[in-house]
Amino acid sequence: MRSNPSHYELTTPATLEAVLDILASDLGPYTPIAGGTELMVALGAGRLATRKLVSINHLQELRFIATTPETLTLGSGTTFTDLRKDPVIATDFSLLSQAASWTGSIANQNRGTLGGNIVNASPAADSLPALLAYEAELTLVSARATRTIPYAGFHLGYKKTILRPDELLHSITLKRDFREYAHYARKVGTRNAQAISKVAIAALARLKDGLIQDIRIGAASLRDRPIRLTATERVLQNQPITRETIAAARAALTSETQPIDDIRSTAKYRAAVAANLLEEFLHQLKP
Ligand SMILES: Cc1cc2nc3c(=O)[nH]c(=O)nc-3n(C[C@H](O)[C@H](O)[C@H](O)COP(=O)(O)OP(=O)(O)OC[C@H]3O[C@@H](n4cnc5c(N)ncnc54)[C@H](O)[C@@H]3O)c2cc1C
Repeated sequence: MRSNPSHYELTTPATLEAVLDILASDLGPYTPIAGGTELMVALGAGRLATRKLVSINHLQELRFIATTPETLTLGSGTTFTDLRKDPVIATDFSLLSQAASWTGSIANQNRGTLGGNIVNASPAADSLPALLAYEAELTLVSARATRTIPYAGFHLGYKKTILRPDELLHSITLKRDFREYAHYARKVGTRNAQAISKVAIAALARLKDGLIQDIRIGAASLRDRPIRLTATERVLQNQPITRETIAAARAALTSETQPIDDIRSTAKYRAAVAANLLEEFLHQLKP
């Protein structure tokens, strides 16, 4: 059933500190709303769990891109358009700028935030395989404390995260270590634009003397959460790219993923296409 907006409350505190105080108070529970591109769909469908929303969309403290020679830090309120247009992200983190460029429509990219993509925790989300491959770190803030955690530990299961009710995702930090790596990103959906992925891969690799010295493979829509294919990476580590290596990697990928049948695709199709994408990347890597 559709929701009646007059049954909902939206509060817009002026500062990040004031938002954190509201989240920590016993006036709630409050749901933070950033771009609203997930929450407005849920509201329209009558699926919004709480009646109270606290806006973080206007907070400049959460919308920034900061670089040092070693790191890139993105405020959680950074939009996909911000990501797409940033020259450092285009050169050093092309998996992320590609993911931003094929997320929804231009309207979605103008409003939707990286923080919302992460906290919404969809297994099909576009930017999350890239964050896994780059080994991103997340900074979480509350009125009580600030903590920094590896992004790889953020998701606990389908749409479940370690974020506490009084916490916000503040920022995402990536090390600028990947300029020498080959980058590979592909999203397979019903169409090239405006489609949620059936399966997606974001991967990085560096070769030395014909052997795979380092490889990182993030994937969407292959388990109940975005995943890093660590068993497949282990099979490929220090190997030349031969027919046997590719066969072993395809088998490892199949063993460590658990795709499902749903309205967008079938488990069988997802498993086959994911292995094909990995194979395509490995062929591209060949010296
Ligand atoms: C038409 C359409 C097409 C789309 N296409 C794609 C697509 O191709 N690929 C894709 O990945 N996604 C897609 N999406 C989903 C959506 O646009 C993204 O997930 C987007 O990143 C959500 O960001 P937001 O700022 O709008 O989140 P919101 O809707 O504001 O929030 C989403 C969730 O995150 C929480 N949240 C947001 N920011 C924070 C924070 N800083 N701290 C704590 N909690 C927070 C909210 O409480 C809520 O639970 C699409 C959505 C629509 C409506």
